[in-house]
Amino acid sequence: MTAPCSCKSPRPANRLRLDYRAEAKRLGTPVVPIIDAHTHINGEHASALYAEARELYGITETWSQTQFPQAKAIKKVLGDSIHFVAVPDYMSDDPAHAHGQGYLDRITEWHEQLGTRIVKFWCAPRGRDYAKESSGDPRTLTLDSPWRRKQMEHAANLGFMFMAHIADPDTWFKTKYTDTSFYGTKASQYEPLERLTDEYDVPWLVAHMGGWPEDLPFLTGLLDRHPNIILDTSATKWMVRELSLHPRAELLAFFHRFQGRILFGSDIVTMDAHLSTDEGPRNMGSQASSADEAFELYASRYWALRTLFESAYEGESPIADPDLHMVDPDRFDEFAAPVLSGKSLPTDELTILYRQATLDTLHAWHNRP
Ligand SMILES: [Zn+2]
Repeated sequence: MTAPCSCKSPRPANRLRLDYRAEAKRLGTPVVPIIDAHTHINGEHASALYAEARELYGITETWSQTQFPQAKAIKKVLGDSIHFVAVPDYMSDDPAHAHGQGYLDRITEWHEQLGTRIVKFWCAPRGRDYAKESSGDPRTLTLDSPWRRKQMEHAANLGFMFMAHIADPDTWFKTKYTDTSFYGTKASQYEPLERLTDEYDVPWLVAHMGGWPEDLPFLTGLLDRHPNIILDTSATKWMVRELSLHPRAELLAFFHRFQGRILFGSDIVTMDAHLSTDEGPRNMGSQASSADEAFELYASRYWALRTLFESAYEGESPIADPDLHMVDPDRFDEFAAPVLSGKSLPTDELTILYRQATLDTLHAWHNRP
């Protein structure tokens, strides 16, 4: 039985009107303290709310792609339980600089001021629109652009491991990315990745189940070909939608085969704009507009992922997934959600997914002499 909340109307992060605090108690303490390998924690007030949601759901450590100017303040709130991944200045008024020379300089700053040893390369196909607008060259953010190569070289020399966002959901390739002459096909996104993971023999964390949770046979090939690739389970809506569709035995076999190379991650984004009716930068704050809603936004991700991995729940996800509407507007409204099909992973798999895999990869790399 799930516990209802006292809120009046369903919200995108809580369609089922769950009491996420009571739900955390009902789920109970996880088999091991969980490490979240993929978040974006920003905002001092939002990070305090995040800390509450995190603690309730048994997450004790967080790897975060925080904005550099906020990192020290976030560290004050979350202390030694937060670790940073170097990211460029996404908020810059001069994106062409921020993703070029600016990122080279920023990588040095992350390294010198915060001891960071993981660097993120965001290469989503939609980055081609953004790059075209900001620098005139749609390929600036692709993994093998000249600036990226310089940043990789610099980061590798400083002892960084790499993290990359390579592809977006199949739903996006069916709708937003139909112009393959501009965006490339989904498969083509992986060509530079396969070359560069060979060239740079450091661990590569390829986010969002490598960008292809829809296709476990593809991921099996990718992971077999490149022993230095690891994955995270972040992007909760996407993972809930697509991992639910795999038969339990197939997903379990995949997790078992690549034990230690799949890291628990949520992709929770926190920011102070979530706590007020002000729109956030670039409209990103509009997902929540009060402390209550922000808490639900963050807690809902941990509820959904733990329910997916640990339980035998069969039912609608509490989180609205607009991709359903985007692909099939006749069948789904914007508030629709997919079926969340719990996979009841065995305790030994959960222990590794939730904690050990991240200790053996991100932590081990970070703690290298
Ligand atoms: Zn992310």
